[in-house]
This record gives sequence, structure tokens and C-alpha cells, in this order.
Amino acid sequence: MALVNEHFLKLPNNYLFADIAKKVNAFKVMHPKADIISLGIGDVTQPLCPAVIEAMHKAVEEMGTAEGFRGYGPEQGYEFLREAILKNDFLPRGIHLDIDEIFINDGAKSDTGNIQELIRWDNSIGVTDPIYPVYIDSNVMIGRAGVLQDGRWSNVIYMPCTAENGFIPKIPEDCHVDVIYLCYPNNPTGMVISKQELRHWVNYALKNDALIFYDAAYQAYITDPDIPHSIYEIRGARKCAIEFHSYSKTAGFTGVRCGYTIVPKDLTASTLDGQRIPLNPLWNRRQSTKFNGTNYISQRAAEAIYTPEGQQQVRQTIDYYMQNAHKMLATLRKLGFECYGGENAPYIWMHTPDGTSSWQFFEQLLYGANVVCTPGVGFGPSGEGYVRFTAFGSHEHTDEALHRIEMWNK
Ligand SMILES: *Cc1c(COP(=O)(O)O)cnc(C)c1O
Repeated sequence: MALVNEHFLKLPNNYLFADIAKKVNAFKVMHPKADIISLGIGDVTQPLCPAVIEAMHKAVEEMGTAEGFRGYGPEQGYEFLREAILKNDFLPRGIHLDIDEIFINDGAKSDTGNIQELIRWDNSIGVTDPIYPVYIDSNVMIGRAGVLQDGRWSNVIYMPCTAENGFIPKIPEDCHVDVIYLCYPNNPTGMVISKQELRHWVNYALKNDALIFYDAAYQAYITDPDIPHSIYEIRGARKCAIEFHSYSKTAGFTGVRCGYTIVPKDLTASTLDGQRIPLNPLWNRRQSTKFNGTNYISQRAAEAIYTPEGQQQVRQTIDYYMQNAHKMLATLRKLGFECYGGENAPYIWMHTPDGTSSWQFFEQLLYGANVVCTPGVGFGPSGEGYVRFTAFGSHEHTDEALHRIEMWNK
């Protein structure tokens, strides 16, 4: 008899963005003529930049010739891209990585979900709350998260990030965390972590023999020079942290699929009898067994981001989104809403007024202004009383949405 992995059955079947779509559809049925603007889902809208398109065309042409054709590539990714990453993303920040510490992925979601295969099922995990749902759900699927009670998993340690603590999680004092998920700049709050705060986490991990899984998907949006782009800017992080990068938000690659994961060679975890095991060869083994590499065309596209033209063009699109973020912050604050993020990240995290719940505010905004936001509670219990707006829309849609919110608020 084939038995199912019952851990899957514990996952709540309400998926945040499906719930939003359902409510938006219900509204549309009643108001078929309404023109709805979504500042909800975190997907980019602007096209790929010319440098990337040119590189993709070239790669496609190569694939059509006998000399240029490429079949299976290295599971770890092509050297041309890994070299470009070393030289551009790390060396200028004083971080020296070995090329074998870089693993090209098909987007950060896959690897942030898969990485938990390297650790035993009974490690405790700590997450910031609110949180990108992949971190918890991937642990639920193998039975590490325990059972769901009142919106919380019994074996997950939630570290609340709210206005009261400046959205920086407090290091747990009353319990031990083996594995900590951090994401900065943060989705959904749009907040960042300073070097000093991040140093506390690295020191905690080193002292307590914990691992940090660091999601840097939004590092390209950092404008403040004091905010770290990589956890490896902190001394000692090579011994305790794995880092995930993605070109999705950096260069509009949500449909192209490419990113990379850093697993330093100094990083080890313990066996039950205390032997130290390096994780880099384990991840290499895992990838070689279960992954056949990111496609050549996407990797050439990613390489093009590091050319001078690519850098300049990608920066232009990021600036475009950040203009939206600045306008949103200015308008929402002018209207008296309490807003966070939006300065080093394309997300604005807004406190709902007068104790309105996340879903109540979502509906008020949908019915009153025909604008869609994301209810904060969908990202975790500490997201209740907040909503998320994304800056990934066009200027026209963003301006129109803000105008409607202004009219509705009067
Ligand atoms: C968008 C996003 C990613 C990137 O996912 P891809 O699979 O690379 O598209 C990773 N982490 C967070 C928190 C994100 O919001």
C-alpha cells in the first residue's frame, strides 16, 4: 500500500493569494464595470532590459548551431556566471568567496524551500513573523513544523516584528533555536536590518551553534550605504550562514528564473555524536542528484546584468519602482496612515487605522477605492492589523491608485 506523506495534509488549504482572488472576483461579479488596480501581488511589471534581451537572443542563436549547442550544463551553474557574481556582488564589498561556494539556482524560492533537506527533521526553526510563507510551509511538508494551533505551528518559534520593535526580531531568550530564517530587506514589511543588528544574530548563531538561512532577494533595492547587502559582510557569517539571491526582483527575472545560493565551505553542522560535517559538499551532492542546472539561456541573461549597460539598465528599472514607493509613502503618510518600509525595499507595510483587521481593511479599500492590497495577517499572526502595498506597478496605475485612495479617504 502506498502511503501518502500526511504532513502535506496539515497545510492549511487557504492560500493567501487565492483568497484574495476569490474576494476580488466576488466584487467583480457585483460590480462588473469596476476597474480594479492591484497593488497586491509581489510580481514585477516592467519588461526585461535591452542588455538581457540581447544576451538571450545570442544564447538562443548559439543553441541552434552545432558548435554553440549546449546540453546538460554543470549542476552548480556555468563558470562565466559564477565568476561574474564573485567579481560584482561580493569582491567590491570585501567578501572573498570561492567559486565552489556559489550554486546557480532557478530562483530563490526553490532553494529556500529545498535547503531544509540538509538538516535533521527535529531541529527547531525560528522565523520572523510576518514571513515569506515558503520558509514555514517547506518545513511543514517534511514534518518539522509540528501541528497548526490558532494560526501557529507548534514546533516553530515565531519572532514578532512589529512597529514596537522596529520590525527587528528579538533574539529568543527562553528557548534555543537551531535554524533561523532571516530575510532583509524584508518581504512583506519592506524594513531593513543594520550591520549592528545583523551582527547580534551572527554572534548568536556562532555561540549557540545555530544556522542562519539568509534571504537577500531584495538587496538590490538598498540605497542606504550602511545597510548590509550580504550577511557575509559580518565577520563570522561564513561559519553559520547560507545566503539566497535572486534576479527576480533585481532584474525582472520572475518569468526567466535564475538566482544563486551561497554555501560557504567553512559552514558545518553537527552529527548527533558531535562530529562536524561541512554543508557545502552535502548541498553539492543534493544538487547533483536532484537538479540538472538552470538553463543556459537564463544564465547568459543573468551574466548580462553585470555588464556596464546591464547594470545601468537594471538600476533604471529599480529606480522606477522606488519612485512609486516614495510617492506611495508620501501620499499615505499625508493622509495620516502609519507606514513602514518603502525606502530600501519595494514594499510598504501600513498599519490599518483604528484597530481595523487586515481583511476588513482589504475589503474597505477594495469596495471604497477599487484598489487591492495584501492583508498582512496572511504573512503570519504578527501581520494582523497591517496591509502590504507593492511598488511594482506602473507609474500610471500607482498614481491612479493613490488618487483613488485619497478620494476615498475624504
Ligand atoms: C520574490 C522573492 C524571492 C524570489 O523568488 P524567485 O523564486 O527567485 O522568483 C525570494 N524570497 C522572497 C522573500 C521573495 O519575496
